[in-house]
Amino acid sequence: RKCLNRIKRTRHLNAYITVTEELALKQAEEAESRLLRGSPKGILDGIPFAVKDNFCTENIRTTCASRMLKDYIPPYTATVVQKLLDQGCVLLGKTNMDEFAMGSGSTDGVFGPVRNPWSYAAPYREQAGGAEADSDWVISGGSSGGSAAAVSSLTSFLALGSDTGGSTRNPGALCGAVALKPTYGLLSRHGLIPLVNSMDVPGIVTRSASDAAIVLEVLQGRDTKDSTTVQRPTSHTGPAEDFDVQNLCVGIPEEYHAQGLSQETLAQWSRLADLLEGAGAQVRRVSLPHTQHSIVCYHVLCCAEVASNMARFDGLQYGHRSAVDSSTEAMYAASRHEGFNDVVRGRILSGNFFLLKQNYERYFLKAQQVRRLIAEDFDRVFRGGVDVLLTPTTLSDAVSYSHFVQQDNRTRSTQEDIFTQPANMAGLPAVSVPTALSSRGLPIGLQLIGPAFQDQTLLSVAHWIE
Ligand code: GLN
Repeated sequence: RKCLNRIKRTRHLNAYITVTEELALKQAEEAESRLLRGSPKGILDGIPFAVKDNFCTENIRTTCASRMLKDYIPPYTATVVQKLLDQGCVLLGKTNMDEFAMGSGSTDGVFGPVRNPWSYAAPYREQAGGAEADSDWVISGGSSGGSAAAVSSLTSFLALGSDTGGSTRNPGALCGAVALKPTYGLLSRHGLIPLVNSMDVPGIVTRSASDAAIVLEVLQGRDTKDSTTVQRPTSHTGPAEDFDVQNLCVGIPEEYHAQGLSQETLAQWSRLADLLEGAGAQVRRVSLPHTQHSIVCYHVLCCAEVASNMARFDGLQYGHRSAVDSSTEAMYAASRHEGFNDVVRGRILSGNFFLLKQNYERYFLKAQQVRRLIAEDFDRVFRGGVDVLLTPTTLSDAVSYSHFVQQDNRTRSTQEDIFTQPANMAGLPAVSVPTALSSRGLPIGLQLIGPAFQDQTLLSVAHWIE
């Protein structure tokens, strides 16, 4: 009830697309009676959670923040959501996002932008010198901005996001939450409406690394409905309280000193490296030379997969159907034109261009090869003894909405992902941890990237940091 009230009081954040109040109250009541009887369903029984609106939920509208799916009610529930429900978790609602998870700001969805809760917190308001809260709010990051805002505004204890190029870590960093992108294949994608199948993973947003570790434990594992999932026994449950960074080798990738990195984020990065070194970790400079090609390479691969994934939205089986009915072709074209925003349509066009017979080798195949090189960079560094990489998550703290939307939509949807995308290219686990507030009173997050299936180790380091 407290969570639901808080959702009402923070309506201006626009974090939720759908609030499942009635269902939540019913589930909470059932959980309460189980807990009173002393027979919880699972470790998370009764814990309220929120889900990004690109995970299918049976009988609950799932929109992808798109006009195309505005009225779509799925007949089944995504595996990761079901696993939480099976634990007795209480579903509060579905969170706002960029349309079809394409974006980095949660500004490009049909339900309007998500506002970063820190825009209304004292440190930011004080330095804004009494400026109108309504005109100078900052973005939540994205595309899982609603999930990050839900956790950091304390309306929910945990939220699911999705992460294809940084969409969970980016808003996590900007909203001051812990945001985990698990190893590809550890969590089922069944029921997650795809963006880039070869990179998508469900992401976990929580208030602390220990919470993330518990949720990861519950969600991971093989799912017969997603053939890319694997069963991996985890080394331990949750971050070890006595985890020692003494024998840890921390890599600092040179190439992440990127153009546009803010002085304050850089200073945080150095501070954390010093802190780890001071505690006995070995901190080492490393090189990931192909990282610089990540954004371009992602653009080609993402658009190619988008072009193919979006083909299903024809306005016939499901999706928005236009009133234009002069011919079947005209109906398809009009439905897709009306149903998708221009970010989505732009990517479909680019993707089809990259996949043309005469372009396929030059773009798609080449991008696949570069992707392999990016992954091999990581491999080499980890084989050389590095346990985790420490990097910034974003270039700076959150920018104001008016500033963000001035950029053209291709730049704003992908440029911010420079530090996060490479981990998706390589399928590696990565977590963003809040480390400080900037002089503007906004959160700064740093990212840890580890070898495949070392998710729990990452969370232990994150726990040590927080
Ligand atoms: N910002 C990237 C994009 O627009 C990544 C999005 C994501 O991770 N879902 O595609």
